Amino acid sequence: MASTSLAQSGTAQSTLIVGESAHAEGVERMLASFRAIPAERRVRLAKKTSNLFRARQSAQGPGLDTSGLTKVISVDPEARTADVQGMCTYEDLVDATLPFGLMPHVVPQLKTITLGGAVTGLGIEATSFALGLPHESVLEMDILTGTGEIVTARPGGSEREQSLYRGFPNSYGSLGYSLRLKITLVPVAEYVAVRHVRFHDIAELTKALDSAVTNKAYDGEGVDFIDGVVFSGDEMYLSFGRMVSADEIGADSRPSRYDGIGDKQAIYYRSLQHPSGVATDVLRIRDYLWRWDTDWFWCSRAFGTQNPKVRKFWPQQLLRSSFYWKIIGLDHKYDLGNKIGALKGEGPRERVVQDVEVTIDRLPDFISWFLREVPIEPLWLCPLRLLDKGDATTAGAGPGAGRPWPLYPLESGTTYVNIGFWSSAPIEPGTSENAWNVRIEEEVSKLGGHKSLYSDAFYDEATFAALYGGEHADRLKAEFDPDGRFPTLYDKTVRAR
Ligand SMILES: Cc1cc2nc3c(=O)[nH]c(=O)nc-3n(C[C@H](O)[C@H](O)[C@H](O)COP(=O)(O)OP(=O)(O)OC[C@H]3O[C@@H](n4cnc5c(N)ncnc54)[C@H](O)[C@@H]3O)c2cc1C
Repeated sequence: MASTSLAQSGTAQSTLIVGESAHAEGVERMLASFRAIPAERRVRLAKKTSNLFRARQSAQGPGLDTSGLTKVISVDPEARTADVQGMCTYEDLVDATLPFGLMPHVVPQLKTITLGGAVTGLGIEATSFALGLPHESVLEMDILTGTGEIVTARPGGSEREQSLYRGFPNSYGSLGYSLRLKITLVPVAEYVAVRHVRFHDIAELTKALDSAVTNKAYDGEGVDFIDGVVFSGDEMYLSFGRMVSADEIGADSRPSRYDGIGDKQAIYYRSLQHPSGVATDVLRIRDYLWRWDTDWFWCSRAFGTQNPKVRKFWPQQLLRSSFYWKIIGLDHKYDLGNKIGALKGEGPRERVVQDVEVTIDRLPDFISWFLREVPIEPLWLCPLRLLDKGDATTAGAGPGAGRPWPLYPLESGTTYVNIGFWSSAPIEPGTSENAWNVRIEEEVSKLGGHKSLYSDAFYDEATFAALYGGEHADRLKAEFDPDGRFPTLYDKTVRAR
């Protein structure tokens, strides 16, 4: 078992692992709040944090009490599994498992993303090329459905339990809310050694990426983590991470950290940049997992925190994505960005916050088009492959047939690349306020790709049905939420209701 120093956390692990009876109490509280909501009212989660970008159009109904469902129930280091409450953040989950020398298969980059949110919303990270997506490490999960029943969804269960297990990923709470998830964990080493390799051309980068994903190695060395950043058509990087022990890094090595402790001016995405060849770095495992959270990838620059003078005085504990979310919340509410822009004589801007996925062979087409047409940079790249070998019979007929996870259009045995961009672009005269998002959506569709549904989406109903489960999703909805206590997937993700 690895030493507790792996956790590097001020939070005592014991307060994160609460046991069965606390979980039972949390479930009771949640059920009581469900029963208290009148049958004709819509039900929603009342959570303190969210990583959902789209603004909601309608007034929100009463919320479910999630306060007793935010921790880890137990960790079994021998079996390498954890029983986790649905609203447990990855920050807490990681702090509970690292002392055992274990981590979840996929740890999304933002600390307040919850396990339930990542499983229903298709989280992704640099392990996804080898370890799939968060829902693929779920052994079973308890889901509160629209009828108030708790169904344990699992692969080897009854047909009903299996269909909910398969349909839950990408359902975004339209079928029910996960209260407990049993997941498998993977062993970690104490450090991650990273090689940032510069490319000057997207075709070259794509070739290297494809080979590294297939061989789980780059330049003769094994890789456990892969992601990348495109700054421009001439400056792009793949970052290959490998877990290494203290012995391997050597006694003199001083691992870097990018969380504002130590060198406060250190910014992870800037550490990638160099003129040519390979730059190397070493981080403790926990610092590697949260490397993107401190500056919310690069998005913190919008708040001034990358200006050295501002950063010097910015409290270290507020260098984190959850704090930037609070500022974004104010911007959504008061349209601050556009108002400040107007004072400076700038025109209105459209928010363009999206993650899209194309098959790896279409990556050069998409990146070349994007760099030519859309005034946004940098872009984040993350390769992914489903772990599931695929079983057409599990998905049923309709648009989901042949996909292991029928509500999301990923095929087994194919390498995809997730491309993330989170910024804004000027609204051009004579175009609609959603023009950039719509153009990107059209280009992605043209290339046979699709996008994550955590942000704005503009698909018409037919296109949406073809991509995201169609009649299969309708059948699941009729089975698990017959009275429409939760919005449909289309209402939630496109109509933002
Ligand atoms: C700017 C930005 C960047 C992002 N980058 C990444 C990234 O790099 N990697 C990544 O993995 N993801 C990323 N995401 C997406 C994020 O993983 C998803 O939005 C995820 O669903 C958020 O989970 P959450 O726990 O914060 O849930 P919330 O934001 O609170 O909710 C998201 C949706 O999931 C539903 N939901 C939440 N909890 C549950 C539950 N227990 N059971 C059922 N439904 C539930 C909610 O009803 C809601 O529809 C990004 C999002 C944004 C806005």
